[in-house]
Amino acid sequence: MSTAVVVGSGPNGLAAAVHLARSGVDVQVLEAADEIGGGTRSGELTVPGLVHDHCSAFHPMGAGSPYLQTLGLERYGLRWLWPEIDCAHPRDGGEAALLYRSLEETAAGLGVDGARWRRMFTDLAGGFDALAADLMRPVLNVPRHPLRLAAFGPRALLPASVAARWFRTPKARALFGGVAAHAYHRLDRPATSAVGLMITAAGHRYGWPVAEGGSAAISRALAAQLAEHGGKIHTGVRVRRAADIPAADVVLLDVAPGAALEILGDAVPSRITKSYKKFRHAPGAFKVDFAIDGPIPWADPACGRAGTVHLGGEFDEIAGAERDVASGRMPDRPFVLLGQQYVADPSRSHDGVNPVYAYAHVPAGYTGDATAAVVAQIERFAPGFRDRVVATAVTAPADLARDNPNQVGGDIIGGANGGVQVVFRPRIALDPYRIGVPGVFLCSASTPPGAGAHGMCGYNAAESALRHLRGSRG
Ligand SMILES: Cc1cc2nc3c(=O)[nH]c(=O)nc-3n(C[C@H](O)[C@H](O)[C@H](O)COP(=O)(O)OP(=O)(O)OC[C@H]3O[C@@H](n4cnc5c(N)ncnc54)[C@H](O)[C@@H]3O)c2cc1C
Repeated sequence: MSTAVVVGSGPNGLAAAVHLARSGVDVQVLEAADEIGGGTRSGELTVPGLVHDHCSAFHPMGAGSPYLQTLGLERYGLRWLWPEIDCAHPRDGGEAALLYRSLEETAAGLGVDGARWRRMFTDLAGGFDALAADLMRPVLNVPRHPLRLAAFGPRALLPASVAARWFRTPKARALFGGVAAHAYHRLDRPATSAVGLMITAAGHRYGWPVAEGGSAAISRALAAQLAEHGGKIHTGVRVRRAADIPAADVVLLDVAPGAALEILGDAVPSRITKSYKKFRHAPGAFKVDFAIDGPIPWADPACGRAGTVHLGGEFDEIAGAERDVASGRMPDRPFVLLGQQYVADPSRSHDGVNPVYAYAHVPAGYTGDATAAVVAQIERFAPGFRDRVVATAVTAPADLARDNPNQVGGDIIGGANGGVQVVFRPRIALDPYRIGVPGVFLCSASTPPGAGAHGMCGYNAAESALRHLRGSRG
């Protein structure tokens, strides 16, 4: 029986482990933290009884993941729950723009831009599964659905600032800008519309659900499936060098490229070492979790029915904040993503007190305190919010990095979405999961298709490892 060690139990490490174990490989997972899950952990961060997500919260790409969908994770306790509105984008003195799972309902709220929203997203949402089959694996593969990919390509390659001009109203532009800001990059740079288009299309196909009881349900379900196939997980084991890894036929590293170099040292060929050293991380996140008494007093009450609320004002303001952050400057009004998971999943709340999750985009390694800026962005659209706060828990970029070494400088997306890294990560290669050391593979979000609790990086890396095992047997 072939053997595998997976270092790291984030959603990608676990997806890789499950795929290998289901393919008959004897798998063990080594996890540095005391708890499994990496970016899919959740727990009581503010007051007893309230469940906060440490990292991933909303899962259009998780629900729409070509691999996770094959696993029947609901049999292991994963249940997706949807808010009535996927995402609200409040605007100063105006109505919030609302993104529904239904494309028609979304378009109906966008006035003259409704028809344009339909034209932008109908084919992407309708063909999302085919598109995902091509986009959620390395780009240098023969496409399975070339025509669909060819139709997506020209739109995806545009800077978000150019794609936004397709819309006539500030409302639709702001809605698109908030989703495009998930690229965590300057919105006037090529291909920054790709992330916004994909997440919106995934949302119109699958919604933006939360996991009942917290995102940890995703990793718990994966771990349960792994155990069923004989896999074992050891927590509290930090791998610092190759000698810390038990002998195995294949090793998969759910770590950042820099960490892979530290672990493997001189075994990595110099051309790959060079490209990993050039790998760039994204700006950081400054996260503030709140316990609040009752609901948030939104100026536009529709925001209270949304799972996600994007706080950043109009498109140009968001683009300006993202430009500052990418250049290492902290904006006065950073883009803030706020999560009201409890709207979809009341089990997160306790005794009328609700958990609210918010994080600001900040420069990489930002050492200041962005708490006031986060609160100010919420107050701007929900006057009186401050008075509802019962408790606060702050996670600065340094805390994120300490908590999970993959989050270098507070980078929560496994590497910058700039330049060629949008599609070629961590380097340009037919098989980007190979590290150049026979039998060793990178499987973290620093590989295609990038960030998100979808497990596709892990699945693709495990496929590469299985090819290696078949080759070495033959
Ligand atoms: C604040 C925040 C919000 C987010 N929001 C969303 C969202 O709403 N939706 C979404 O889909 N995604 C979201 N993400 C992104 C998502 O969480 C990540 O893309 C995803 O978790 C990446 O999975 P991964 O397996 O590659 O790595 P991770 O989840 O980072 O897991 C890596 C694991 O490896 C372990 N590890 C690292 N180095 C070692 C070592 N040397 N030895 C042993 N163990 C090691 C770590 O402890 C960790 O458990 C968010 C992330 C953050 C932080």
